[in-house]
Amino acid sequence: MKEPIEHACPQCAGTRLELRVEQSITVEFDHPDGHDVKDGPSGDLEWDDGTKATCLTCGYAGTLKEMTGKRP
Ligand SMILES: [Zn+2]
Repeated sequence: MKEPIEHACPQCAGTRLELRVEQSITVEFDHPDGHDVKDGPSGDLEWDDGTKATCLTCGYAGTLKEMTGKRP
């Protein structure tokens, strides 16, 4: 897992980012009108350069790779 402290919004330099991460759950679709979540979520939350990120300060959206801080 990478440390998120190296990332900041390129538009406002905000460091509070919402990351779109994936996890796994086990779901049983055994009802015609519903389902049961049997297990999960499991696994660590992980992200990388391609993870979608949104700045919670100004709303800038991009990949985590783009979140390199305010441009001069
Ligand atoms: Zn921002």
